[in-house]
Amino acid sequence: MFRTAQLLVRLAGKVAVITGGASGIGEATAKEFIANGAKVIIADIQDDLGHAVAAELGPDATYTHCDVADESQIAAAVDLAVSRHGHLDILFSNAGIGGATSQDDDMASLDMAAFDRVMAVNARSTLAGVKHAARAMSAGVVLCTASVASVLPVPEAAIYSVSKAAVVAVVRAAAAPMARRGLRVNAISPTTTVTPMVTRLPAAVLSKMFSGSNVVGIEPEYVARAAVYLASDEARYINGHNLVVDKGYSVYKAADA
Ligand code: NAD
Repeated sequence: MFRTAQLLVRLAGKVAVITGGASGIGEATAKEFIANGAKVIIADIQDDLGHAVAAELGPDATYTHCDVADESQIAAAVDLAVSRHGHLDILFSNAGIGGATSQDDDMASLDMAAFDRVMAVNARSTLAGVKHAARAMSAGVVLCTASVASVLPVPEAAIYSVSKAAVVAVVRAAAAPMARRGLRVNAISPTTTVTPMVTRLPAAVLSKMFSGSNVVGIEPEYVARAAVYLASDEARYINGHNLVVDKGYSVYKAADA
């Protein structure tokens, strides 16, 4: 006897803020969250794109301008979710920048101004997100996009690698205090993902990145599905974790070393 497959709607009734939701992994996650029954606030600095994505996703999506380098704008996005929907259940701190410079692999000429900027957008914002989630949420999940560079530093992108290791450090440091508030906090670490962050790179840089590895260029939808799982109640016992989505690349690479 066949049983009808049951469609799982994992985030029914949940409200999410997704930073960097106008493009790439954030946009794909907004789509997956809504398909799973959530309402989504897309928080980004690309206003035209963000409005267009929200319009395409329909009434369950709202766009708001939010520069995550500015803590007060993160607080405002969180507060918008609560005022509009009555509660916030998921904060996805996903916005990030690459910020690699041509000197990034030469320790003697590191650009410390670039470091400050990348840390502000990638890492400081993650800690600020945890802070405002703790303030505004009484249950739920904080998710943070780190990178495979958090576990396997990319020498050509030292600044980025440091910033993403810091994202995972935030997750680990916050896990116990957030659990005391009934909240979970986890990171997702994708390998190279086919989004504008990568596709806008010059061809020469791209070919260098894609050579020597058969584990590059995953689709953002599969990162989004990992986010759906971690955000859902099915992952209720997962806290302080860094979920690496890289087809095992970091393990093979570590074994090769
Ligand atoms: P993307 O460029 O398509 O999307 C990033 C989004 O973040 C953009 O919409 C951009 O406007 C937004 N953003 C940038 N600075 C911001 C700021 N100060 N405030 C608010 N929003 C801002 O790139 P993506 O690949 O989707 O990147 C999403 C996350 O995934 C980033 O944290 C990135 O570091 C991480 N990541 C990407 C890859 C990859 O290969 N694409 C791999 C690992 C991790």
